[in-house]
Amino acid sequence: MSRPESLAEPRSEPKKLLSIDEALALVEAHVKPLPIEEVGLEHAYGRYIAQELRAAIDLPPFAASAMDGYALRAEDSPGTLTVVGESSAGSPYTGELGPGEAVAISTGAVVPAQADAVVPIESVSGTSEQIELASPIASGSFVRDRGSDIKRGDLILDAGTRLGSAQIGAAAAVGLATVLCRRRPSVAVLTTGTELRQPGEPLEDGQIYDANGPMLTAALLTSGAGVEHIPAAADTAEAHREALTRALEHDVVISSGGVSVGPHDLVRSVGRELGVREVFWRISLRPGKPLAFGVRDATLVFGLPGNPVSSLVCFELFVRPALLALQGAPRVTPPWIPGVLGAAVQRNPERDDLIRVRTDTAEGSTVLLPVEGQQSHQIAITAQADALARIPMGSGEFPAGTEVACLPLLRY
Ligand code: AMP
Ligand code: MG
Repeated sequence: MSRPESLAEPRSEPKKLLSIDEALALVEAHVKPLPIEEVGLEHAYGRYIAQELRAAIDLPPFAASAMDGYALRAEDSPGTLTVVGESSAGSPYTGELGPGEAVAISTGAVVPAQADAVVPIESVSGTSEQIELASPIASGSFVRDRGSDIKRGDLILDAGTRLGSAQIGAAAAVGLATVLCRRRPSVAVLTTGTELRQPGEPLEDGQIYDANGPMLTAALLTSGAGVEHIPAAADTAEAHREALTRALEHDVVISSGGVSVGPHDLVRSVGRELGVREVFWRISLRPGKPLAFGVRDATLVFGLPGNPVSSLVCFELFVRPALLALQGAPRVTPPWIPGVLGAAVQRNPERDDLIRVRTDTAEGSTVLLPVEGQQSHQIAITAQADALARIPMGSGEFPAGTEVACLPLLRY
C-alpha cells in the first residue's frame, strides 16, 4: 500500500558513516560463540577455555622438600643427628622418623610425616650416617606445604581464559589431560582481482602479486583460526560465485577487494545473490572505508578493501575481535594502549585515521613516529611500522606530544 505524499518518509540525508566503535559493536552483535569441544592439552595452546578450571587435587599433593638436604624435626637442631634413610623424588622414605634422626631428602621428595623442616645439604657437616647442625633450624624451613600452590576444589582459571604456557602447565600439574574449549573458527580467505598473481609466478603487464592472501592467512595464524586460502577469483560474477560458494561453507569468510563502487567490484552483489545479508557497508575509517560486513546464517562475511594496508587495518579492528568472540574470549576490543605522537599529524575532517607508526619508548611513554608513506597501497612501507595510531577525525593538526591511542601490531 503506498502512503499519501504527506506521510512519505523524509528524503534521507546523505547517510553518516558508522564510526569504528559502532561498526565493531554491530560485528560483535552478530557473533554467536562456537560450540564447545574437548581438547587434549597438547593441542590447547592459545585456545579459550569454556569451563572454569578447578584443582582436582592439592598441589603439591604432599609436603615436599624445597631443597636437596636432610629432613628432620626442627626441635633437634642444633645438634648431631643420625641419618636413617632416604626420601628421593618419587620414592618416599617408608619408615618412621624418631627424635634425633634425619633422612636424606631431594628436592620434590616427600617430607616424612614426623619431620617439620629441611636443612639444605650445604648447611650441614658430617658423614652419610651422621650429620652435625651448627645452628637452630626454624620449623617449616624448606618445606613446601601440601596444597601451598592450590587446594583441591579451588579455582585455577575462569571460563574464557586463553591458555598460554603457564595455564597449560597449571592444568597439567593438577592432572587434567583435556580441557573444554570453543571450537576454532574455520576461515576462508578469498582474494579477488583479475590482476592478482601468486608470489613465485611471473608477472605480466598490469598484474600484481596477491599480498593480501598471505598477509591475512598469517594474521589468522595468531587468531586461533583454521584457514582455507581459496585461489584468487577473477573479476567475473562466475568466478566470484564459485569462490564465495566454497568460502561460505566456513564459519567466517574474509574476502579482499571488490567492495568499492567500480563496475568490477562484485563481492557484495554476488554475496547478496548467495544469501549474504549485509549488516553494514562503508565506515568512517581511513584506510578501510569500503569495509562490508554481512552474515549468512551463522557465517560472518567480511568484505575487506583490496588495498593491502586497508585490509590489514580492517582485519585488526574488526576481524580479529570477531574471531576472538567466536572462541568465547571475554574481551574482544583491540588492546589500545596510550601513546604520544612523536611528530605533528594532520587530522582528517571526515574519518578516523589509523596511521602506521613505529614505536619507541622514551621517559616511560610510547612515542609514535608515523612512517613516511601513509597511502593504503603502501604495504612495503607499512612493513616498517609496528603499531597503528588512532587519530580521531577533526580539523587542524595534532602537534607532537599529543596523546593518542595506539594498537601494537607485533605482539608476543
Ligand atoms: P579493489 O577494491 O578490488 O579495487 O582493490 C583496490 C586496490 O587493491 C587495487 O589497486 C587492487 O589491485 C589492490 N588489491 C586488491 N586485492 C589485492 C591483493 N590481494 N593483494 C594486493 N593488492 C590487492
Ligand atoms: Mg578488484
